[in-house]
Amino acid sequence: MSGGEGQGLLARPGRRSVGDRPVFELDQRGVEATRRALDRGLCSECFGRLFGRLGHGLSNPERAVRCAAALGVELPNPAGPCALCGGAFDRWADWIGRALRAAEGLEWHRFTCGSRWDPEILAREESLWSEVGTEWGESARTAFNRELGKRIEARTGALGGPDRPDLVFLADLPVGRVELTVLPVYVGGRYRKLDRTLPQTRWPCRRCRGQGCNQCGGTGKTYPTSVEEIVAGPFLRATGAMASRFHGMGREDIDARMLGRGRPFVLELLQPRRRTIDLVPIGEELAREGAGRVEVVDLRLAESSDVVRVKEAAPEKSYRVGVSGSVPLEKVNEALSVAVGRAIAQRTPARVAHRRSDRVRTRRLVAARVVEASEGRFTLDLRTEAGTYVKEWVEGDDGRTEPSLASLVGVPLRVEYLDVLEIHDTEA
Ligand SMILES: [Zn+2]
Ligand SMILES: [Zn+2]
Repeated sequence: MSGGEGQGLLARPGRRSVGDRPVFELDQRGVEATRRALDRGLCSECFGRLFGRLGHGLSNPERAVRCAAALGVELPNPAGPCALCGGAFDRWADWIGRALRAAEGLEWHRFTCGSRWDPEILAREESLWSEVGTEWGESARTAFNRELGKRIEARTGALGGPDRPDLVFLADLPVGRVELTVLPVYVGGRYRKLDRTLPQTRWPCRRCRGQGCNQCGGTGKTYPTSVEEIVAGPFLRATGAMASRFHGMGREDIDARMLGRGRPFVLELLQPRRRTIDLVPIGEELAREGAGRVEVVDLRLAESSDVVRVKEAAPEKSYRVGVSGSVPLEKVNEALSVAVGRAIAQRTPARVAHRRSDRVRTRRLVAARVVEASEGRFTLDLRTEAGTYVKEWVEGDDGRTEPSLASLVGVPLRVEYLDVLEIHDTEA
């Protein structure tokens, strides 16, 4: 949502409870202010709004009536359009019509209203407050947003307020138009990736940057599909969303499998037309379409704060690594006992240096053991701190990771495969 502050988005409209008597008492200053406001050519909304923060349980036009009664005069009825708002508060049918037309064909249950005003009108309103001497003035924008929200609530049964809206209506008063923002729908889950040729996210072709060229066969992609595209497919169809964004709790290499309980993710569906999602049939579709490549578990509805949680998490991870190299098993075990718990200095790996800043990070192995060994190769299970480059720790990355397993055993080593066994995000 952009610029919500400046547009004075609708606060939850105050509902009057039954038996809650309106309260409105003008003191001498209020009477004086009323007297000075009488000949200003104001509509009853703008008149009453001069006292909008005085008392409660009344609409602004009702406040205007009370003010006039306190002076024993008739409420002035200006001949032309209101000198302050120009009639903005008289055209609800237009504004409601514009808002509902903008939202046509969309499913929505909660909404927020904002408005964009000619800054001169808002400035004029503030000087009017000091000219008539009221300390109770309410801003035209705040009142407009609230009143439009109440009317849309009454018309549609949807709930207005600032809390997790599906839609934001922005009434542009100078232009006479309602701008609509459709907020995303979020779903969360965990994915297992069984395919060593599948990237986590859509990978644009490096040559054409996604435009489509001869090298990528016009697809604009380096890989035909991705975890993101497989997972998003059924959700895009179910919601009619324009696009999606995939937020993983980190990512594994393309040629690594993601096993165990899977990796947490949040899928953000942009500009959805439908928001009620039945996860059961979608889970079944996903199982069919991902068969042998991607499995999704723990599907649930999520919200925007889950994206932050997933992106900021730094859980430990467990790996299984197949290594080749001519080294006796005792030497490997010796090296592992030295390595666990000690600082590893990892300079940004050569293979990712083109997209990450070059610096040295310190990481640790939490646990390590050999699970299998034969002539010229062995298999390791490792548990590491978040952000450890495992392949580089084994191979050394030409001295950029120090110490490495290869430097500790004094023999060149090569990672043959790597699987993520577990993301330890839900453990104490
Ligand atoms: Zn007015
Ligand atoms: Zn291309």
